[in-house]
Amino acid sequence: MKNIMFIAPPAAGKGTQAELVVQKYHIPHISTGDILRDISKEESEIGHYVFETLSSGRLVKDEITYQLIEERLKKEDCQHGFIIDGFPRTLTQAIEFDGILNKLGYTIDNVIYININEKTLEKRITGRRICENCKAIYNINEPSSTPQVESTCDICGGKLYQRNDDNLSSFQTRYKMYQEKTEPILEHYRNQNVLYEVNGDDTVENVFKAIDEIISQN
Ligand code: AMP
Repeated sequence: MKNIMFIAPPAAGKGTQAELVVQKYHIPHISTGDILRDISKEESEIGHYVFETLSSGRLVKDEITYQLIEERLKKEDCQHGFIIDGFPRTLTQAIEFDGILNKLGYTIDNVIYININEKTLEKRITGRRICENCKAIYNINEPSSTPQVESTCDICGGKLYQRNDDNLSSFQTRYKMYQEKTEPILEHYRNQNVLYEVNGDDTVENVFKAIDEIISQN
């Protein structure tokens, strides 16, 4: 069983790397961002709240994230491992998450920290495009990640879209939030001896190679 967590700043390649792990290890990828983006399309009070919060780059209320993460981890497909990305994002969430894991009888084996330069992130953020159907990730600023047909997913033919928080102004809010609130949780996992660091300023293939080496050894 492999229970894996990714910690990285916005647009560091968490989603892309998580999908590569899914393909190799056949475990579900749980992204709070993806779940919240689905909720943000709902015509309801919570849907509107999540839409506004995501667009601004701020964090969604803790209670909402705790509930959705617990519900998701309870599902049958998580019994044989999972990869979690985007949660926890604050030390408060990390401490609460220890309790949720404990309650469900899970432990996290590998916390993978993708360390990456801020300038690389700025370059990536405006080029990111996502398939609205299968959620595959492309980057039109990087030749190796550009779709073969413009605005069309290579895998399923779905339409590609740009996240409405993938602009420089929202990125700056998200990055500042990451530095202030998320970076402190690295220490939390370092103290639990489950933290591993990889260099995110490399090609998708090399970053995955480094991640795979960590996962396969633990
Ligand atoms: P991501 O796809 O991980 O970049 O997340 C997109 C957005 O979803 C974030 O900017 C937050 O607004 C929200 N979000 C995702 N995960 C969390 C979380 N653990 N706590 C609060 N808000 C979150």
